[in-house]
Amino acid sequence: MNTFMTVSLYAPSKKGETVCRQIQSRVDELEQILSTTLPSSDVYFINHNSEIPSSLKPDLVSLLDFCGQMYEKTDGLFNPALYPVIREWGFTTGEYKVPSDERIRGLLLHTDFSKLYEDEKIELDFGAVGKGYAADQALLILEENGIKSALLDFGGNIQAIGKKPDGSLWKVGIKNPWNGEVACALSVESKAVVTSGGYERFFEEDGTRYIHIFDPATGRPSQSDLESVTIVCESGKYADALSTALFVMGKDKSVSWWKNQMTEKSIPAFDFILITKSAELIYSSGLEKVIEPIYQFESVKSVSLNLNSASK
Ligand code: AMP
Ligand code: MG
Repeated sequence: MNTFMTVSLYAPSKKGETVCRQIQSRVDELEQILSTTLPSSDVYFINHNSEIPSSLKPDLVSLLDFCGQMYEKTDGLFNPALYPVIREWGFTTGEYKVPSDERIRGLLLHTDFSKLYEDEKIELDFGAVGKGYAADQALLILEENGIKSALLDFGGNIQAIGKKPDGSLWKVGIKNPWNGEVACALSVESKAVVTSGGYERFFEEDGTRYIHIFDPATGRPSQSDLESVTIVCESGKYADALSTALFVMGKDKSVSWWKNQMTEKSIPAFDFILITKSAELIYSSGLEKVIEPIYQFESVKSVSLNLNSASK
């Protein structure tokens, strides 16, 4: 998955080692399915053939189903079918370029995820959700083995299992997008904490920054007013997909979308932390007692489900 993954767990050493190996082979197995670059992977097969095979591995069935739901709920802003566009910009190889408007328009014709089984030219990339899904799978292995305390870092996707062995909460740092230091700290128990940020991968040309998170409506790197989005919830795949989606939505839409989803209870409850380009910190009120701003933000605001929100 093109990243470093760290598993820290608390168990008798022999057992700990066995569980770590189990997690490693599960992640390897997922890599063999989801990789866009391994010619033997299932996703590679889909991307290089006009039809989706009728029998897919259960992991892929489950991920496609989940992505379909997220595509629908985010009005297509979360879209794992953007691969041809993202590749054209050079984000898969590092040979970056700004494609012509005409080229982008052409590539966008085959990025409607809801036409997965109809559009022969569709190509997939689970870059925005794969690490979160993998962390959920690792969590299952930990649970099966009775591990009560662990911390997973899957390329910046954090999954805290239980509390620390001494009974205190896990403390997770949210990166300062401008200097790489810690912008705020978060104390959590049994939660996924996943951040999407423009600063993570980008290139610059003629003074413009082009980031790796794309706006599916334009086929161009997102120009949202956010520097980063962190999602805190129980599931890694939701946290991962939502961090990417809210980044593209931008500040105002993210807040109103969260309110709608939480009111309708149509997806599992989640909390968010937005860091805007103008150095505002905005978070959902569920984090009130566990968030600690460290950076000197221009403003700090908590948003709750009712209409009143408190500024500090
Ligand atoms: P993340 O770091 O989880 O936000 O995922 C970003 C990665 O997901 C990018 O590097 C792309 O491979 C892919 N991606 C970019 N934009 C989108 C989008 N709007 N929806 C789904 N995947 C995307
Ligand atoms: Mg993501």
